[in-house]
Amino acid sequence: MEIHGAHGYLVCQFFSGADNQRTDRYGGDLEGRMRFGLAIVEAMRQTIGEKFPIIYRLGAEEKRPGGITLRQSRAFAKQLQKAGVDAFDISIGSPEGSKAMNPSPGPKAKMGTYVPLAEAIKKEVTVPVMAVGRINRPEVAEAILTEGRADWIGIARQLIADPQWPLKVSGGRSDEIVACKSCNTCFQPLFGTRWKFGDPICKVNPEAGREVDLA
Ligand code: SF4
Repeated sequence: MEIHGAHGYLVCQFFSGADNQRTDRYGGDLEGRMRFGLAIVEAMRQTIGEKFPIIYRLGAEEKRPGGITLRQSRAFAKQLQKAGVDAFDISIGSPEGSKAMNPSPGPKAKMGTYVPLAEAIKKEVTVPVMAVGRINRPEVAEAILTEGRADWIGIARQLIADPQWPLKVSGGRSDEIVACKSCNTCFQPLFGTRWKFGDPICKVNPEAGREVDLA
């Protein structure tokens, strides 16, 4: 079970000093801003027992005034692990479309652009840490793992572009991978005004989003 505490969603807003303007015990200083996320984890752990894994997607940094800093996130990660988190998925705090830090980095962003955040959190916790953010190529993913910068890799858009990516990589057919362009056209159904139901959602995979119809 993964708690989404990144990308400007509600849980992340409580942690962000830029968003959280509360004056009660769930706001104010760092301790207050950590309280909501910690309370969720503690309540989940009590409810689901010790054996069911909880992953926390932590927005580890925002480059905006008053926003989340990596120093704050490092402290938060330690507390979250104590509260019962079994693994971390490390992304950024800013919402989709943010200019300073975009959760879905565009084509000009360096591949694995947010890996340093995962690497920093990994130094603070003893549970597995996932790296995400434009990790499209197998050699990039492999290097992150072998260099010990993260314990596992999260891939999203690349699997829309080519759902066969894991099979091609494990089967030694990496040269057949259809590369994601990081163009973010697949966000049009969410944010676009001209997209209509049935329109393609991916620049390189015409079947994406139409799997049932095409079957
Ligand atoms: S539309 Fe396709 S190619 Fe473009 S970012 Fe989304 S998945 Fe990648």
